[in-house]
Amino acid sequence: MHAPTAPRVPSSGHCIFCDLIRGAAEVSICYEDATAIAFMDIQPVNPGHVLVVPREHYEVLQDIPGSVGLHLYQVATRLIPVVQASAGASDMNIVVNSGAAAGQNVMHYHIHLIPRRDGDGFDVPLPFPGSVMPNRQQLDAMAARIGSQLRDPLRN
Ligand code: 5GP
Ligand code: ZN
Repeated sequence: MHAPTAPRVPSSGHCIFCDLIRGAAEVSICYEDATAIAFMDIQPVNPGHVLVVPREHYEVLQDIPGSVGLHLYQVATRLIPVVQASAGASDMNIVVNSGAAAGQNVMHYHIHLIPRRDGDGFDVPLPFPGSVMPNRQQLDAMAARIGSQLRDPLRN
């Protein structure tokens, strides 16, 4: 458990998930504790589509204190088999859209738990059919670039 700290202000000024969390709008909660809350998505891909959300307003994963991020994934891990069984689903997509260009519409960090069944019509199209496959040299160069950034003491 992680005690809430001083409330953070959404950069957009208003946040629908902050409204839900403080009880200002209708929400169907399936799990909550001092740090995390999980509720039913109002526009589910399939029945049982759950959002796991920090109570505090953070936009993307890298904004979240490590202990809170870890806790969210522990909550998700606990919920996954229960949601799957409750929804009668065989599998699950665990999705995070991080940032507007990545399809994040609600800028309060959340993990989608999306129950899946064969032939349900939903798809996360990976590998991407439009991918231009890089050669090994290009892959190695990108890996090295990321690795050297990670080792840069000015970044940490
Ligand atoms: P995103 O596109 O940001 O990854 O996903 C936002 C999700 O929040 C969508 O799946 C959308 O259906 C859900 N959502 C948006 N507004 C509300 C709301 O007022 N209540 C609930 N329960 N879900 C919402
Ligand atoms: Zn918020």
